[in-house]
Amino acid sequence: MTDLPESPAPRSTSEIASFHAHIYYDPAATRPEAERLRTWIDERFSVTLGRWHDAKVGPHDQAMFQVAFAAEVFPALVPWLMLNHGRLSILVHPNTTNPRRDHLADPFWIGPPLAVHGEKLPEEAPIEEAPLPNTRLAAETAAERSAFRFSVLRMTVQDRP
Ligand code: ZN
Repeated sequence: MTDLPESPAPRSTSEIASFHAHIYYDPAATRPEAERLRTWIDERFSVTLGRWHDAKVGPHDQAMFQVAFAAEVFPALVPWLMLNHGRLSILVHPNTTNPRRDHLADPFWIGPPLAVHGEKLPEEAPIEEAPLPNTRLAAETAAERSAFRFSVLRMTVQDRP
C-alpha cells in the first residue's frame, strides 16, 4: 500500500469533454490507405474530420489528420478503427484541461505506437468540446431530421379543423 501515490479519489470521466483520434500516414507510402479510411469514416460516423497535415505539426511525429468526436461516438467508432486501421497508426486521446497529460500519459494506440512530442503541449488549456460534425453521415442525418420535422409540422397543420 505504501507504493501507491497519494490521491484522494479516482478521476471522473466527466473530466473528458471529447476525444481525438489522430490518424497517421506516410505521404510517400500510405496516403491512399489514409484517404480510404477517411472516406469510410465520412460515410459511417458523425464526427469532425480535420484537414490533411502532410507535414509534421504540433506534437505529432508523422503526417496525420485528426478526427474529433463526442464521448457518445466512442463505443462505435473506436472498435471500428481497431479493425480497419490497416497499416496506419492511430492515437486516441481524451480532451481534458491538460493536453500534455492527454497525449502522453493517458492515450492509447491502435497499430504501432509513434513518438509524441508532448513538450510542445501545455499542461493547462481551455476545455475542448466536440465541434459540430462535418461528415457526409452527419449531413444526411441532419437532413433526415429536418425532413421529419417538416412532415410532422405539415401533419399538425393539416389535422387542424
Ligand atoms: Zn489531439
